[in-house]
Amino acid sequence: MFDFFKQGKKNKQDSTDSITWNPRLIEQFEAIIKMTPVLFRKSARAAVTETAEDIAKNRGATQVEECDLVNAYLKETPEMFKESLFENALKVGIDMASYLSEKRLNKMKALSTNIAWDQVEQVFHPDVTWFEWAVTQKCNLRCRYCFENAGTASQDELSTKAALSIVHSLGASAKKLNRRFVMLWSGGEPLLREDIFELIGAAREEGMLCTMASNGSFITPEMAQRLKDAEVSTVIITLDSLTPDIHDAARGKGSHAEALRGIHNAKAAGLLTMVESVATRHNYKEVTKLRKWAEKEGFLYFHRPLHRGGRTLTDDSMMNRKQYHQLYFDRYQHIFEKLKTGKGTHIPLFEIFDLVPFPYKPLTREERDYLEWGVGCQACRLIHGISVSGDLLPCIRLKMPLGNLLTETFETIAQTPLYRRFVLRQDRGGICKSCEHLELCGGGCLAETMALEGDPFAGWERCCWVTKE
Ligand code: SF4
Ligand code: SF4
Repeated sequence: MFDFFKQGKKNKQDSTDSITWNPRLIEQFEAIIKMTPVLFRKSARAAVTETAEDIAKNRGATQVEECDLVNAYLKETPEMFKESLFENALKVGIDMASYLSEKRLNKMKALSTNIAWDQVEQVFHPDVTWFEWAVTQKCNLRCRYCFENAGTASQDELSTKAALSIVHSLGASAKKLNRRFVMLWSGGEPLLREDIFELIGAAREEGMLCTMASNGSFITPEMAQRLKDAEVSTVIITLDSLTPDIHDAARGKGSHAEALRGIHNAKAAGLLTMVESVATRHNYKEVTKLRKWAEKEGFLYFHRPLHRGGRTLTDDSMMNRKQYHQLYFDRYQHIFEKLKTGKGTHIPLFEIFDLVPFPYKPLTREERDYLEWGVGCQACRLIHGISVSGDLLPCIRLKMPLGNLLTETFETIAQTPLYRRFVLRQDRGGICKSCEHLELCGGGCLAETMALEGDPFAGWERCCWVTKE
């Protein structure tokens, strides 16, 4: 199986070379692309171009016309973005709505989201630094594989004054380092912290972008509107299955219905709503179905595999290597095929985020550029964690304090040898030590290695790519 990912044929001749574009249409297409959120601009240009040319060829034409471009856009654009796409197209003289029946148009409008794109773009821009902050350990649920062991409030929880001092300290660090910080308010259930809106307000004043990870239980229409008014740009709500019993078995009776209500309320308020599943041996076969459902309903979708840590140390929900491999296989296959056929630009940034392990060695500088954002372990790179007591962690799942933000600044901690050891991705033991993929992979999930071995750099013996069953 592993051989599949060794480099194959590259730069297959593009079969669409012979087709031309109506010159007026090129200008209109470029104008629409300029109005497309940065996050999707590159992949949208590549995918829509290819599809429009294919459609034109299939109808026997040698030139791409407006109908081909519109049909390509309809095919390639997720439902949630179609309404704003139509508005942009109209600005440059293409009336996409006229290509659709009234019934289809109404359906599309129902699925679109009126989101604040400027904020969302900034939040998911490749050069931002994320901090996932477990602001409380309080939670109304008792999910069986929670890595925080959440439930009741921790004795270490910070007062409002102390939490605000961390917000201000990070704000000052961001300015000093000339970087954009994104706060991911997390927990426990962050909405159970009474001062959460005060903290969000302070972070916004410091110029930080705000997102929230919630179980959705408290996201009523009023709460969703409050989050929107507080300029929280994205809400991430966990949904592990479309079957209530599977989700409820892990997170508690009725939690599926509450999560769904929260997801719909968040979207209705105009928040970019991301549905996240934790993949376990109970639901890993369902993630493709979940993705299709989420995209059809107008949500972003993301899954992450369950790793050992917190309550998972004693829970049996983990996938075995074979299941883990199966979970990621489609995603890897899609990405590597695009790279090998010279179509790296077709890969949306979301698709390469959080792939651990990452068993591919780029052949060219160009390929490397496509992959640099978000591939492999992101601890101390794209993301950090902050514990309930204010410790800076390499990632929220990796319980190894690097320093405490009540007494030290982020930039001071970022200069320590331990922090640099995470960033540099060189110094890893075990099977990762001499692995040819280490540079991009980072050594698998260091949080799991820490939970199992007590040393995050020991090498990820669970790696499903280089170890045998
Ligand atoms: S052995 Fe380690 S570095 Fe290599 S692919 Fe697996 S997790 Fe990544
Ligand atoms: S330690 Fe694991 S969970 Fe944390 S960023 Fe790395 S791969 Fe992701």
